Amino acid sequence: MEIEKTKTKNRKPIPEDRGLGFGQYTTDHMFLMDYTPERGWHRPRIVPYCNLSLDPAAMIFHYNQEVFEGLKAYSLQDTDIGLFRPEMNLDRLNQSAKRMVMPTVPQAYFLQALKELISIDRGWVPTTAGTSLYIRPTMIATEAALGVRPSRSYLFYIILSPVGAYYPQGFNPTRIFVSDTYIRAVRGGAGEAKTSGNYGPTLYVSKEATANGYAQVLWLDGKENKYVEEVGTSNIFFYLNNELVTPPLNGTILPGITRDSVLRLAREWGLPVSERRISIEEVVQGIEDGSLQEVFASGTAAVISPVGQIGYKGTDHRVADGRTGDLAERFYEEITGIQYGHKPDPFGWRRLLSELVSERKR
Ligand SMILES: *Cc1c(COP(=O)(O)O)cnc(C)c1O
Repeated sequence: MEIEKTKTKNRKPIPEDRGLGFGQYTTDHMFLMDYTPERGWHRPRIVPYCNLSLDPAAMIFHYNQEVFEGLKAYSLQDTDIGLFRPEMNLDRLNQSAKRMVMPTVPQAYFLQALKELISIDRGWVPTTAGTSLYIRPTMIATEAALGVRPSRSYLFYIILSPVGAYYPQGFNPTRIFVSDTYIRAVRGGAGEAKTSGNYGPTLYVSKEATANGYAQVLWLDGKENKYVEEVGTSNIFFYLNNELVTPPLNGTILPGITRDSVLRLAREWGLPVSERRISIEEVVQGIEDGSLQEVFASGTAAVISPVGQIGYKGTDHRVADGRTGDLAERFYEEITGIQYGHKPDPFGWRRLLSELVSERKR
Protein backbone atom coordinates (compact mmCIF):
# COMPACT_ATOMS: atom_id res chain seq x y z
CA MET A 1 0.00 0.00 0.00
CA GLU A 2 1.33 3.41 -0.99
CA ILE A 3 0.11 6.11 1.40
CA GLU A 4 -0.12 9.56 -0.17
CA LYS A 5 1.08 12.21 2.28
CA THR A 6 0.25 15.88 2.58
CA LYS A 7 2.05 17.59 5.45
CA THR A 8 0.44 20.43 7.34
CA LYS A 9 1.69 23.95 6.80
CA ASN A 10 0.19 25.12 10.08
CA ARG A 11 1.60 23.06 12.92
CA LYS A 12 -0.50 23.35 16.05
CA PRO A 13 1.23 24.14 19.34
CA ILE A 14 1.97 20.90 21.18
CA PRO A 15 0.39 21.08 24.66
CA GLU A 16 2.44 20.49 27.80
CA ASP A 17 2.25 17.00 29.26
CA ARG A 18 0.86 18.31 32.55
CA GLY A 19 -2.42 19.66 31.21
CA LEU A 20 -3.24 16.90 28.74
CA GLY A 21 -6.21 15.20 30.39
CA PHE A 22 -8.00 12.70 28.17
CA GLY A 23 -8.91 13.30 24.55
CA GLN A 24 -8.85 17.09 24.55
CA TYR A 25 -6.20 17.54 21.87
CA THR A 26 -5.70 16.05 18.45
CA THR A 27 -2.43 15.97 16.52
CA ASP A 28 -1.49 17.63 13.22
CA HIS A 29 -2.38 14.78 10.87
CA MET A 30 -4.87 11.99 10.29
CA PHE A 31 -5.05 8.87 8.15
CA LEU A 32 -7.98 8.21 5.82
CA MET A 33 -8.95 5.59 3.26
CA ASP A 34 -12.14 4.89 1.32
CA TYR A 35 -14.06 1.74 0.55
CA THR A 36 -16.42 0.80 -2.25
CA PRO A 37 -17.37 -2.75 -3.28
CA GLU A 38 -15.86 -2.14 -6.74
CA ARG A 39 -12.49 -0.83 -5.59
CA GLY A 40 -12.18 -2.25 -2.08
CA TRP A 41 -10.05 -0.06 0.21
CA HIS A 42 -8.42 2.67 -1.81
CA ARG A 43 -6.85 6.13 -1.67
CA PRO A 44 -4.95 5.65 1.60
CA ARG A 45 -3.71 9.08 2.62
CA ILE A 46 -2.31 11.11 5.47
CA VAL A 47 -3.51 14.70 5.48
CA PRO A 48 -3.53 17.68 7.84
CA TYR A 49 -6.14 17.13 10.57
CA CYS A 50 -9.39 18.71 9.36
CA ASN A 51 -13.17 18.47 9.29
CA LEU A 52 -14.81 15.73 7.25
CA SER A 53 -17.24 16.62 4.52
CA LEU A 54 -20.25 14.30 4.44
CA ASP A 55 -23.65 14.37 2.80
CA PRO A 56 -26.39 15.00 5.42
CA ALA A 57 -27.99 11.76 4.21
CA ALA A 58 -24.79 9.77 4.88
CA MET A 59 -25.91 6.57 6.56
CA ILE A 60 -23.65 7.00 9.60
CA PHE A 61 -25.95 9.81 10.77
CA HIS A 62 -29.15 7.80 10.69
CA TYR A 63 -28.54 4.15 11.40
CA ASN A 64 -25.37 4.15 13.39
CA GLN A 65 -23.24 2.07 11.07
CA GLU A 66 -20.00 2.87 12.86
CA VAL A 67 -17.23 0.99 14.63
CA PHE A 68 -14.19 2.26 16.47
CA GLU A 69 -11.18 1.22 18.51
CA GLY A 70 -9.00 2.64 21.26
CA LEU A 71 -5.32 1.84 21.79
CA LYS A 72 -2.19 3.71 22.82
CA ALA A 73 1.37 4.42 21.73
CA TYR A 74 4.00 4.80 24.45
CA SER A 75 7.25 6.69 24.47
CA LEU A 76 9.95 4.16 25.43
CA GLN A 77 13.20 4.98 27.21
CA ASP A 78 15.31 4.15 24.16
CA THR A 79 13.44 6.75 22.06
CA ASP A 80 11.47 4.18 20.09
CA ILE A 81 7.68 4.14 20.39
CA GLY A 82 5.81 1.11 21.70
CA LEU A 83 2.34 -0.23 20.96
CA PHE A 84 0.49 -2.82 23.03
CA ARG A 85 -1.06 -5.78 21.16
CA PRO A 86 -2.32 -3.64 18.22
CA GLU A 87 -3.28 -6.74 16.21
CA MET A 88 -5.89 -7.49 18.90
CA ASN A 89 -7.45 -4.09 18.33
CA LEU A 90 -7.63 -4.73 14.61
CA ASP A 91 -9.16 -8.18 15.16
CA ARG A 92 -11.78 -6.63 17.40
CA LEU A 93 -12.43 -3.79 14.96
CA ASN A 94 -13.02 -6.39 12.27
CA GLN A 95 -15.31 -8.42 14.54
CA SER A 96 -17.28 -5.26 15.30
CA ALA A 97 -17.36 -4.44 11.57
CA LYS A 98 -18.80 -7.86 10.70
CA ARG A 99 -21.57 -7.39 13.27
CA MET A 100 -22.37 -4.03 11.68
CA VAL A 101 -22.18 -5.40 8.08
CA MET A 102 -19.13 -3.31 7.31
CA PRO A 103 -15.94 -4.25 5.42
CA THR A 104 -12.90 -5.49 7.33
CA VAL A 105 -9.50 -3.80 7.26
CA PRO A 106 -6.44 -5.91 6.28
CA GLN A 107 -3.83 -6.14 9.01
CA ALA A 108 -0.98 -4.94 6.78
CA TYR A 109 -2.92 -1.76 5.93
CA PHE A 110 -3.74 -1.09 9.56
CA LEU A 111 -0.19 -1.52 10.84
CA GLN A 112 1.31 0.51 8.01
CA ALA A 113 -1.21 3.30 8.57
CA LEU A 114 -0.35 3.35 12.30
CA LYS A 115 3.36 3.34 11.61
CA GLU A 116 3.32 6.17 9.09
CA LEU A 117 0.78 8.33 10.91
CA ILE A 118 2.47 8.08 14.30
CA SER A 119 5.86 8.66 12.68
CA ILE A 120 4.72 11.88 11.03
CA ASP A 121 3.27 13.10 14.36
CA ARG A 122 5.86 11.54 16.64
CA GLY A 123 6.65 14.91 18.21
CA TRP A 124 3.17 14.62 19.75
CA VAL A 125 3.92 11.43 21.71
CA PRO A 126 4.24 12.73 25.27
CA THR A 127 7.20 11.52 27.31
CA THR A 128 6.34 12.14 30.98
CA ALA A 129 5.72 8.99 33.04
CA GLY A 130 2.21 7.63 32.54
CA THR A 131 1.39 9.74 29.47
CA SER A 132 0.70 8.25 26.04
CA LEU A 133 -0.68 8.90 22.59
CA TYR A 134 -4.24 7.63 22.36
CA ILE A 135 -5.16 6.21 18.94
CA ARG A 136 -8.75 6.21 17.71
CA PRO A 137 -9.34 4.15 14.54
CA THR A 138 -12.89 4.68 13.27
CA MET A 139 -15.00 3.40 10.38
CA ILE A 140 -18.22 5.08 9.20
CA ALA A 141 -20.88 4.46 6.56
CA THR A 142 -20.73 7.27 3.99
CA GLU A 143 -23.28 6.44 1.32
CA ALA A 144 -26.03 9.06 1.01
CA ALA A 145 -29.26 7.07 1.10
CA LEU A 146 -32.22 7.08 3.49
CA GLY A 147 -33.39 3.49 3.32
CA VAL A 148 -32.46 1.19 6.20
CA ARG A 149 -29.87 -1.14 4.70
CA PRO A 150 -26.08 -1.45 4.79
CA SER A 151 -24.18 1.40 3.14
CA ARG A 152 -22.17 0.65 0.02
CA SER A 153 -19.33 3.04 0.80
CA TYR A 154 -17.24 3.56 3.91
CA LEU A 155 -14.52 5.78 5.30
CA PHE A 156 -11.86 4.44 7.64
CA TYR A 157 -9.79 6.98 9.52
CA ILE A 158 -7.33 7.18 12.38
CA ILE A 159 -6.88 10.20 14.64
CA LEU A 160 -4.39 10.65 17.49
CA SER A 161 -4.68 12.39 20.84
CA PRO A 162 -1.91 12.90 23.41
CA VAL A 163 -3.29 11.92 26.83
CA GLY A 164 -2.14 12.56 30.37
CA ALA A 165 -1.23 10.16 33.15
CA TYR A 166 -4.39 8.61 34.55
CA TYR A 167 -3.02 8.49 38.08
CA PRO A 168 -0.70 11.49 38.49
CA GLN A 169 -1.03 11.21 42.29
CA GLY A 170 -1.22 7.45 42.56
CA PHE A 171 -4.21 5.16 42.60
CA ASN A 172 -7.52 6.58 43.66
CA PRO A 173 -10.19 3.92 44.25
CA THR A 174 -13.48 4.90 42.62
CA ARG A 175 -17.12 4.82 43.70
CA ILE A 176 -19.28 2.98 41.20
CA PHE A 177 -23.04 2.94 40.82
CA VAL A 178 -24.97 -0.23 40.05
CA SER A 179 -27.84 0.45 37.70
CA ASP A 180 -30.79 -1.80 38.47
CA THR A 181 -33.09 0.14 36.13
CA TYR A 182 -31.17 0.70 32.92
CA ILE A 183 -29.21 -1.83 30.93
CA ARG A 184 -26.40 -1.53 28.39
CA ALA A 185 -26.83 -4.62 26.25
CA VAL A 186 -28.87 -7.79 25.89
CA ARG A 187 -28.01 -11.25 24.62
CA GLY A 188 -28.34 -11.19 20.84
CA GLY A 189 -27.76 -7.44 20.63
CA ALA A 190 -24.48 -5.80 19.66
CA GLY A 191 -23.02 -5.37 23.15
CA GLU A 192 -19.76 -7.06 22.26
CA ALA A 193 -19.12 -4.70 19.32
CA LYS A 194 -17.33 -1.38 19.80
CA THR A 195 -20.00 0.53 17.91
CA SER A 196 -21.23 4.00 18.83
CA GLY A 197 -24.84 2.85 19.37
CA ASN A 198 -23.76 1.11 22.57
CA TYR A 199 -22.52 4.33 24.17
CA GLY A 200 -25.04 7.10 23.48
CA PRO A 201 -27.79 5.51 25.58
CA THR A 202 -25.45 5.12 28.58
CA LEU A 203 -24.90 8.88 28.91
CA TYR A 204 -28.26 9.38 30.58
CA VAL A 205 -27.41 6.85 33.26
CA SER A 206 -23.85 8.03 33.84
CA LYS A 207 -25.08 11.61 34.14
CA GLU A 208 -27.30 10.56 37.02
CA ALA A 209 -24.50 8.52 38.59
CA THR A 210 -22.01 11.40 38.28
CA ALA A 211 -24.52 13.81 39.83
CA ASN A 212 -24.58 11.50 42.84
CA GLY A 213 -20.81 11.38 43.16
CA TYR A 214 -20.12 8.10 41.36
CA ALA A 215 -17.35 7.77 38.79
CA GLN A 216 -18.86 4.98 36.67
CA VAL A 217 -21.91 2.82 36.14
CA LEU A 218 -21.75 -0.91 36.76
CA TRP A 219 -24.08 -2.68 34.36
CA LEU A 220 -26.11 -5.76 35.16
CA ASP A 221 -27.37 -8.29 32.61
CA GLY A 222 -30.36 -7.25 30.55
CA LYS A 223 -32.50 -10.29 31.22
CA GLU A 224 -32.59 -10.77 34.97
CA ASN A 225 -30.95 -7.55 36.16
CA LYS A 226 -28.86 -9.75 38.36
CA TYR A 227 -25.48 -10.68 36.93
CA VAL A 228 -22.59 -8.23 36.71
CA GLU A 229 -21.48 -7.41 33.17
CA GLU A 230 -18.97 -4.56 33.03
CA VAL A 231 -18.34 -1.06 34.34
CA GLY A 232 -18.43 2.03 32.12
CA THR A 233 -16.03 1.30 29.27
CA SER A 234 -14.04 -1.23 31.28
CA ASN A 235 -14.30 -4.89 32.17
CA ILE A 236 -14.57 -5.88 35.81
CA PHE A 237 -12.73 -8.27 38.10
CA PHE A 238 -13.49 -9.56 41.59
CA TYR A 239 -10.91 -11.14 43.85
CA LEU A 240 -13.13 -13.40 45.88
CA ASN A 241 -11.98 -16.17 48.22
CA ASN A 242 -8.49 -16.02 46.68
CA GLU A 243 -9.91 -16.53 43.22
CA LEU A 244 -9.99 -13.98 40.40
CA VAL A 245 -13.51 -13.89 38.95
CA THR A 246 -14.68 -12.03 35.85
CA PRO A 247 -17.90 -12.32 33.82
CA PRO A 248 -17.61 -14.55 30.73
CA LEU A 249 -17.65 -13.22 27.16
CA ASN A 250 -21.19 -14.20 26.28
CA GLY A 251 -21.99 -11.59 23.64
CA THR A 252 -23.10 -8.70 25.81
CA ILE A 253 -19.76 -7.39 27.08
CA LEU A 254 -16.74 -6.00 25.27
CA PRO A 255 -13.89 -8.47 24.91
CA GLY A 256 -11.30 -6.15 26.47
CA ILE A 257 -7.66 -6.50 25.51
CA THR A 258 -6.70 -5.41 29.01
CA ARG A 259 -9.12 -8.06 30.34
CA ASP A 260 -7.39 -10.69 28.23
CA SER A 261 -3.98 -9.48 29.43
CA VAL A 262 -5.05 -9.64 33.10
CA LEU A 263 -6.32 -13.19 32.60
CA ARG A 264 -3.12 -14.31 30.86
CA LEU A 265 -0.97 -12.84 33.62
CA ALA A 266 -3.14 -14.30 36.39
CA ARG A 267 -2.85 -17.78 34.88
CA GLU A 268 0.90 -17.29 34.46
CA TRP A 269 1.15 -16.30 38.13
CA GLY A 270 -0.71 -19.43 39.17
CA LEU A 271 -3.71 -17.52 40.47
CA PRO A 272 -7.01 -19.42 40.39
CA VAL A 273 -9.12 -17.76 37.68
CA SER A 274 -12.76 -18.19 36.84
CA GLU A 275 -14.69 -16.67 33.94
CA ARG A 276 -18.19 -17.16 35.25
CA ARG A 277 -21.40 -15.34 35.97
CA ILE A 278 -21.36 -13.46 39.26
CA SER A 279 -24.51 -11.91 40.67
CA ILE A 280 -24.62 -8.54 42.38
CA GLU A 281 -25.99 -10.33 45.50
CA GLU A 282 -22.87 -12.51 45.57
CA VAL A 283 -20.74 -9.35 45.37
CA VAL A 284 -22.62 -7.63 48.20
CA GLN A 285 -22.55 -10.83 50.27
CA GLY A 286 -18.78 -11.08 49.70
CA ILE A 287 -18.33 -7.51 50.92
CA GLU A 288 -20.40 -8.23 54.03
CA ASP A 289 -18.68 -11.46 55.01
CA GLY A 290 -15.21 -10.25 54.02
CA SER A 291 -14.59 -12.87 51.33
CA LEU A 292 -14.46 -10.21 48.60
CA GLN A 293 -10.88 -8.98 48.82
CA GLU A 294 -10.67 -6.65 45.81
CA VAL A 295 -12.66 -5.19 42.93
CA PHE A 296 -11.04 -3.50 39.96
CA ALA A 297 -11.86 -2.53 36.39
CA SER A 298 -9.62 -3.02 33.34
CA GLY A 299 -9.41 -0.96 30.15
CA THR A 300 -6.97 0.82 27.87
CA ALA A 301 -7.55 4.31 29.31
CA ALA A 302 -6.74 3.62 32.98
CA VAL A 303 -5.31 0.09 32.58
CA ILE A 304 -6.46 -0.93 36.08
CA SER A 305 -8.93 1.06 38.11
CA PRO A 306 -9.52 -0.05 41.72
CA VAL A 307 -13.09 0.15 42.99
CA GLY A 308 -13.49 1.42 46.55
CA GLN A 309 -17.27 1.57 46.89
CA ILE A 310 -20.26 0.02 45.18
CA GLY A 311 -23.59 1.81 45.42
CA TYR A 312 -26.50 -0.59 45.05
CA LYS A 313 -30.16 0.01 45.85
CA GLY A 314 -29.42 3.09 47.93
CA THR A 315 -26.57 1.63 50.00
CA ASP A 316 -22.86 2.23 49.51
CA HIS A 317 -20.83 -0.90 50.14
CA ARG A 318 -17.19 -0.34 50.94
CA VAL A 319 -14.81 -2.82 49.32
CA ALA A 320 -11.83 -3.77 51.49
CA ASP A 321 -11.88 -0.50 53.47
CA GLY A 322 -11.89 1.47 50.22
CA ARG A 323 -8.16 0.91 49.74
CA THR A 324 -6.33 -0.18 46.60
CA GLY A 325 -5.67 -3.88 46.70
CA ASP A 326 -2.26 -5.48 46.19
CA LEU A 327 -3.45 -7.51 43.25
CA ALA A 328 -4.83 -4.47 41.37
CA GLU A 329 -1.50 -2.77 41.97
CA ARG A 330 0.45 -5.80 40.79
CA PHE A 331 -1.52 -6.03 37.51
CA TYR A 332 -1.14 -2.29 36.98
CA GLU A 333 2.63 -2.38 37.52
CA GLU A 334 3.10 -5.44 35.32
CA ILE A 335 0.97 -4.28 32.38
CA THR A 336 2.24 -0.69 32.37
CA GLY A 337 5.79 -2.05 32.82
CA ILE A 338 5.39 -4.08 29.64
CA GLN A 339 3.75 -1.16 27.80
CA TYR A 340 6.46 1.36 28.69
CA GLY A 341 9.32 -1.11 28.32
CA HIS A 342 10.42 -1.16 31.99
CA LYS A 343 9.63 -4.87 32.29
CA PRO A 344 10.34 -7.96 30.21
CA ASP A 345 7.66 -8.88 27.70
CA PRO A 346 7.25 -12.66 28.09
CA PHE A 347 4.15 -12.88 25.89
CA GLY A 348 5.45 -10.75 23.02
CA TRP A 349 2.77 -8.10 23.52
CA ARG A 350 4.91 -5.05 22.90
CA ARG A 351 5.40 -3.84 19.32
CA LEU A 352 8.01 -1.28 18.35
CA LEU A 353 6.89 1.37 15.92
CA SER A 354 10.20 1.06 14.06
CA GLU A 355 9.57 -2.66 13.56
CA LEU A 356 5.87 -2.67 12.73
CA VAL A 357 5.57 -4.93 9.74
CA SER A 358 4.34 -2.80 6.89
CA GLU A 359 3.83 -5.24 4.05
CA ARG A 360 2.86 -8.53 5.64
CA LYS A 361 0.95 -11.02 3.49
CA ARG A 362 -2.78 -10.89 4.14
C1 LIG B 1 -13.22 -0.56 25.06
C2 LIG B 1 -14.10 -1.14 26.12
C3 LIG B 1 -13.62 -2.02 27.13
C4 LIG B 1 -12.16 -2.27 27.38
O1 LIG B 1 -11.44 -2.80 26.34
P1 LIG B 1 -9.85 -2.63 26.29
O2 LIG B 1 -9.47 -3.33 25.05
O3 LIG B 1 -9.32 -3.30 27.51
O4 LIG B 1 -9.57 -1.18 26.29
C5 LIG B 1 -14.54 -2.58 27.99
N1 LIG B 1 -15.85 -2.30 27.91
C6 LIG B 1 -16.36 -1.45 26.98
C7 LIG B 1 -17.81 -1.19 26.93
C8 LIG B 1 -15.50 -0.84 26.07
O5 LIG B 1 -15.98 0.02 25.17
